[in-house]
Amino acid sequence: MPDFDLIIVGAGPGGYVAAIRAAQLGLSVACVEQERTLGGTCVRVGCIPSKALLESSERFAMAGHALEEHGVRVGEVTLDLARMMQRKADVVKSNTDGVAYLFKKHKIERFEGRGELKGAGHVVVHGTDGETELHAEHVVLATGSRVAPLRGVEIDGERIVTSTEALEFDEVPESLVVIGAGVIGLELGSVWARLGARVTVLEYLDRILLGIDDEIAKESRKIFTKQGLDIRTGVRVTGASVEDGTVTVEVEDGESVKADRVLVATGRLPNSEGLGLEEAGVETDAAGRVTVDERFMTNLERVYAIGDLIHGPMLAHKAEEDGVAVAELIAAGRAPHVDYLLVPNVVYTEPEIASVGHTEEALREAGTPYRKGVFPFQANGRARAIGLTSGKVKILAHKETDRVLGVHIVGPRAGDLIAECVAAMAFHATSEDVARVVHAHPTLAEAVKEAALAVDGRALHI
Ligand code: NAD
Repeated sequence: MPDFDLIIVGAGPGGYVAAIRAAQLGLSVACVEQERTLGGTCVRVGCIPSKALLESSERFAMAGHALEEHGVRVGEVTLDLARMMQRKADVVKSNTDGVAYLFKKHKIERFEGRGELKGAGHVVVHGTDGETELHAEHVVLATGSRVAPLRGVEIDGERIVTSTEALEFDEVPESLVVIGAGVIGLELGSVWARLGARVTVLEYLDRILLGIDDEIAKESRKIFTKQGLDIRTGVRVTGASVEDGTVTVEVEDGESVKADRVLVATGRLPNSEGLGLEEAGVETDAAGRVTVDERFMTNLERVYAIGDLIHGPMLAHKAEEDGVAVAELIAAGRAPHVDYLLVPNVVYTEPEIASVGHTEEALREAGTPYRKGVFPFQANGRARAIGLTSGKVKILAHKETDRVLGVHIVGPRAGDLIAECVAAMAFHATSEDVARVVHAHPTLAEAVKEAALAVDGRALHI
């Protein structure tokens, strides 16, 4: 007899959410996690601590330059980095403790150690005090992803770091080079720039934020440059070396760049190694992702994989939806379809950038006829009142059916505004539907309504 109905390997947003949902549905669940605390990269060293630092650093920056216009005088603003870091650690702890509490509440049995798949229904846990054999009817692999190495640039964790260490600097570097103008590079680059570092971002492509609508990425780049980020595109980093505490970053066909610290943010890879996949006969693709069918099942019967370990966007909320779906499939034999086109993407810079659905380039490339409505926050009353008027909302709708095909926002609270747009798209709304919905006044969300009106050339406040 198996010990459990379900073994989950990995307690990140994919794994822990799958565990909770499966337990809610009455399954006995074991969850294997090699770190001491639960929550995975997102909670421990990713989304949560970075958002804590983004918030603190933004408050510091605003206190320095944006309060006076509100008639608030604060005198000299000084930084207590140790306190800021302690607050971040407290925020992380309350979240990891929260997951531990939920495990207890749902009687999910936790095993500490590295999980290795031995075959269908069989996992070995390599713990500090030996090995434990676990058996279950079903196994879900949810081991997430790790920083992709960059050839020629060796991470030493001190001067040349990944996002994990860049959340832990004990002093503000005078100069920071960020390799990669993706999400991590721009979020953490913003944190340290606000706290006083001279930040240079080196990006291989001729644009920032690959995957984000081009018009929105261009506008964002202008805003970040105004904030003081030195963003250089078309620059391929080929190497880096440390001498006397200074890093020299080598670039192809160009002058090297020197900095106190270097953050490597050039993407992530699925954690499919060391899991026993090859020995167990689980198939992976060329990118190292576990191959699954539409039920998240691998080629091994009743062995599933979710989250960053499989195809689709590498995002915590995508992993969570995968987790719920796989748990419902296992427990009840049916599951909602997770539509990856409707997974919103948010960059938590200031202003935030958020998008869902197709970009304008993708529509053009596919030859899809569309209309576009754009509304700037400059013309939104609430944005003026709070003094955050950069950016715009752009809605793309099918030219004939008017169905919303994509929404792209750079602007204040874009990450919250996109929720309405995701819901609209999930319910197959037209731009007319969005435009007819009553939006409270004065709110930033009115910019979404106005962009929807603009699709038909009838925006009211511009
Ligand atoms: P990314 O893929 O978003 O961006 C990496 C960038 O590095 C690319 O633009 C790439 O062209 C560039 N690059 C690669 N090699 C280079 C070289 N040799 N020289 C210069 N530039 C080079 O990767 P990331 O920012 O590391 O993020 C990793 C993952 O984590 C992403 O999937 C992201 O979605 C996820 N993440 C999401 C959030 C969020 O949702 N807010 C936050 C952090 C991370």
